[in-house]
Amino acid sequence: AATPKAPAPSSDLVLSGVSKQFGAYHAVRDLDLTVPEGAFFALLGPSGCGKTTTLRMVAGLEEPTTGTVSLGEQDITRLRPYKRPVNTVFQNYALFPHLDIFENVAFGLRRRGVKDVKQQVGEMLDLVELGAFGKRKPNQLSGGQQQRVALARALINRPQVLLLDEPLGALDLKLRRQMQIELKRIQTEVGITFVHVTHDQEEAMTMADTIAVMNAGVIEQRGTPAELYDLPATTFVANFLGQSNLVRAAIIGKAHEQLVVDVHGSKVTVPTPRCRVTEGEVWMGIRPEKVFLAPAGAEQNGNALRGATVTDVSYVGVSTQYLARMPWGQELTVFEQNTGARDTLRVGDPVDLHWQPAHTFVLDAAQDAL
Ligand code: ATP
Repeated sequence: AATPKAPAPSSDLVLSGVSKQFGAYHAVRDLDLTVPEGAFFALLGPSGCGKTTTLRMVAGLEEPTTGTVSLGEQDITRLRPYKRPVNTVFQNYALFPHLDIFENVAFGLRRRGVKDVKQQVGEMLDLVELGAFGKRKPNQLSGGQQQRVALARALINRPQVLLLDEPLGALDLKLRRQMQIELKRIQTEVGITFVHVTHDQEEAMTMADTIAVMNAGVIEQRGTPAELYDLPATTFVANFLGQSNLVRAAIIGKAHEQLVVDVHGSKVTVPTPRCRVTEGEVWMGIRPEKVFLAPAGAEQNGNALRGATVTDVSYVGVSTQYLARMPWGQELTVFEQNTGARDTLRVGDPVDLHWQPAHTFVLDAAQDAL
């Protein structure tokens, strides 16, 4: 019974028209965002895109230039940080070095004069699997353990929303992977809304049930990891979440729920729902693992781009990465699972690229491919 109950009544976190300007600089622009209660929500984007500023406005550490932040029925835009039912876990754990682990976690409870401190701290330490470490000082713990103490210290206040700002950034890769799974388990157990800021797409995809991808102060797309990966809305999202092949193309016709696209002289088809635009110049996108290479001239169902030459073969364990130079000079990337089903292709081999129309996506041409 180490599980603190999520507070009632139901309370979604809602940002409406939120902007933040630092002088003339727009760090966050007109942001609309709803984080459903109990979600594990990731705010994902490159350095400087405005993620931390957004988080700080939810925490009350930064005041929006325009817009409102509300939690359920309550407008918290101008509420002081300590009055918000919100806690933050930062990358630098900010533990009290002179207090032992138990007292670090007990701190918030003692300040509020709570009675059953011993039991609550005990439960919380069990939750983060540090039950046996209460008497240690922070410097006697590993980075991952310190991070879990910081988490316990924030969770014990039973916030409605827990904000996590790159909380795993200081950990080495292996420990970070462990902690990602661990954090996900803890979030499921406590049922509190987590808003997690990260620039690591793999981390966001591993942990979050919903991701908002942020770029230059705006949210470009939100959805489940699978939705974003499968059908990116912009070239930025297509490239930030995994790798994409983006090829200049033009829509030239329509046939049975499909659009016909001209790709440097070859015709391919794309189901209409997978097209963000329905006419004119476009980017045609296809994920490297959705493409397969066949000897030049082979007949296959689906879409094909012919006349390519293998220019690089890299063995990466579970898969092999190929580069294929297209007749128009662009190199496309193809990942192939190493199942041992066939001999590896070699540099210089003539090949065609094949894929299913339903794996294609089509984006507006009026953006950089990056
Ligand atoms: P990172 O992952 O590097 O922390 P981020 O996406 O969290 O990046 P923010 O910290 O939100 O980005 O910063 C967004 C932009 O706003 C940056 O260009 C930053 O330099 C600027 N900025 C942030 N805080 C201030 C401030 N107090 N005064 C002026 N500019 C600021």
